[in-house]
Amino acid sequence: MKLERQVYLLNPKELSPETIAVTFAKTSRSPQSFRQIAAELTDEQSAQFHEKWVVGYGHASVAEHAVLHIAIENVSRLAIETIESNRLASYTEKSTRYQKWNPEAFYLPPELEGHALQEFYIRAVRGLFEAYEQSIPKVKAVVEREEPLLPGESQSAWERRVRSQTTDVCRFLLPAASLANVGVTANARVLEHAIQKMLSHPLSEVRALGAEVKQVAQAEVPTLLKYADHVPYIEQCAQALENAAGAASPVSPTTDSPAWCRLVAFAPQAEERVLAAALFRYGNQGFAAALEAVRRAGREERERLADIILGSLGPHDIPLRELEHASFSFELIVDQGAYFEIKRHRMMTQTPQALTADLGYAVPRRFPAAGLDEIYCDAMNAAQHTYEALAGLDAHLASYVVPNGFNRRLLMTLNLREAYQFCALRSAPNAHFSVRRVALCMAEQIRSATPTLAQFLRLPKELNWQEIEDEYFART
Ligand SMILES: Cc1cc2nc3c(=O)[nH]c(=O)nc-3n(C[C@H](O)[C@H](O)[C@H](O)COP(=O)(O)OP(=O)(O)OC[C@H]3O[C@@H](n4cnc5c(N)ncnc54)[C@H](O)[C@@H]3O)c2cc1C
Repeated sequence: MKLERQVYLLNPKELSPETIAVTFAKTSRSPQSFRQIAAELTDEQSAQFHEKWVVGYGHASVAEHAVLHIAIENVSRLAIETIESNRLASYTEKSTRYQKWNPEAFYLPPELEGHALQEFYIRAVRGLFEAYEQSIPKVKAVVEREEPLLPGESQSAWERRVRSQTTDVCRFLLPAASLANVGVTANARVLEHAIQKMLSHPLSEVRALGAEVKQVAQAEVPTLLKYADHVPYIEQCAQALENAAGAASPVSPTTDSPAWCRLVAFAPQAEERVLAAALFRYGNQGFAAALEAVRRAGREERERLADIILGSLGPHDIPLRELEHASFSFELIVDQGAYFEIKRHRMMTQTPQALTADLGYAVPRRFPAAGLDEIYCDAMNAAQHTYEALAGLDAHLASYVVPNGFNRRLLMTLNLREAYQFCALRSAPNAHFSVRRVALCMAEQIRSATPTLAQFLRLPKELNWQEIEDEYFART
């Protein structure tokens, strides 16, 4: 009997996410087609299957076939950090670049209810929004002056460019309490961990959000999220480490690289390992032999190999996975607005410190250019004082008042494949200037560490991070 190849979709309008997950899971033991398996399943049978195999025996990957789309609205940007800390989910959030933010839409933590600091908090947040509102027309006038219509550019395209360059500057004033919307697509396995993290979080907003996400998601996948609960380990570990870590240290002095962007670790043989891995993949020798061949090869031969691997990539091509054998750790101190964008890169490991007002704030050049120096700094200083007062009560709570312009420390480990994607995307002219500065500075150091491979990083020609800093910042 000739078996025809079959490719088809399981329709989520006809089958629940749990039934789809069981349909796929059953192919492991059943000779039937997916259609036949699905036709014989009821939601109750699917639940029983999950109880036994996924929940009971830990065959957890089955839950990855149950996918949900969760709409989350009016949550603080601080809470969004926890939602988006899950690598295997997908997100789209309200942008600080492409829309103006509502000054009334900010989170008031219930922890402050009835407390003397509540009024102080509201005043600081309102002050930031007032400065934001006042800044928009004045910064816009500067942008219009500095960014004339380009040859061939339509009036509407120019207006869009002016609008986004204006909000790019004014967003430095937006506090972490600002309310945003985010769309999340996640499978039940990642969602379970996401909910666990939310339910174990020190902020009551995040815990309440975790409970709501659990309730909404459980209506669709009742069995798979049964044990999405508070995890004492997460909470206890965070508390014990906060105590062990002690107080924040000041910014370290500059060595060769700028103090705000330092390559703190990379393996010196990283380049050899990538080239050897590529030979290993397409050859039949052992890794030690491939490495030896690369070591014996002259510079020209290595460059030829690097050119094969990266030289002919088209603009949308993804480089070979073997680039992942080279990795880099960076310590960054970047404004919160930049961090908020960087955190969206999932193919790397990020360890951010808490959002504080301890590391100073950046001043985009267009604030003083618009005569707004005092308005900006007054609002930022008021936020800092409020942060300090709130931190005496609860350091986690205090983060809500911190605006995008304050600096934050972050440890980031990424491989060369992700560096290739990150540096290209985030150094491009349409990226925000804060992140362009980061991407260009990281690229410079990656190039010094792995010159043969990193010469192929896709970067804007003849532009360095210092030029971005000089053009866009009065102070960082
Ligand atoms: C100009 C600009 C405007 C933006 N505007 C917005 C906005 O308004 N709102 C908003 O929410 N975000 C916005 N973003 C963020 C953007 O949507 C991405 O989330 C962010 O740039 C991270 O990119 P990435 O997913 O490619 O990176 P990473 O998560 O680091 O992934 C690296 C690569 O791995 C692959 N990959 C990773 N995860 C998946 C997956 N789940 N499925 C398939 N492939 C995957 C892809 O090839 C990806 O390029 C904007 C980004 C840019 C550059």
